[in-house]
Amino acid sequence: MKGMTITYKVKNGLYVNMTNRCPCACTFCLRQNGDGVYGSDSLWLIREPTVEEVCGSIAAYDGQSFEELVFCGYGEPTERLDDLLKVASWVKASRPMPIRINTNGLSDLINGRRTAPELSGLIDTVSISLNATSAEEYNRLCRPRFGMRSYQAMLDFTGDCVPYVPNVIMTVVDVVTTPEQQEQSRRIAEGLGARLRVRPFEG
Ligand code: SF4
Repeated sequence: MKGMTITYKVKNGLYVNMTNRCPCACTFCLRQNGDGVYGSDSLWLIREPTVEEVCGSIAAYDGQSFEELVFCGYGEPTERLDDLLKVASWVKASRPMPIRINTNGLSDLINGRRTAPELSGLIDTVSISLNATSAEEYNRLCRPRFGMRSYQAMLDFTGDCVPYVPNVIMTVVDVVTTPEQQEQSRRIAEGLGARLRVRPFEG
């Protein structure tokens, strides 16, 4: 069922759901396995909220404190990068807290430009889904609409974030990777100046 869940709480974080668009169709995506996450209402949006609506939704939590604000949701946040940065700028100015983007790392292909520098000063953590150790494996798992160039673009974006964002993390999902793949992923992440996090499957 579609609704208008713009923000939702996960543990000590406030999560922001700005779009359902995504250039990937990952085989393990939560979107393919249910409606809401962590007890939230449906994250399928009737329509994309405006920047003002997103800010209003965040402001409704005033009085509560959060460890961080996370752009995540049922879709790829950088599909709305310009609006996301407007929201981040408003948050930084009015109710400072660390800001993270959970992303597939395809922002440059989505937006048609080099986007990492735009995150500078606004985004504290970028968490990029590495998911695979080769372009072939990545395409099999993530099925990006940009095809074979996607994997390298994701790696380039990660390395590009390092000078601009204090914490750059790459993630792999535990149940779809072997310990060997996780070790290889760690080397890839560290080679780009990022850290690897093996995250639990949440489907
Ligand atoms: S990139 Fe994220 S939102 Fe998009 S299909 Fe993959 S898991 Fe789902």
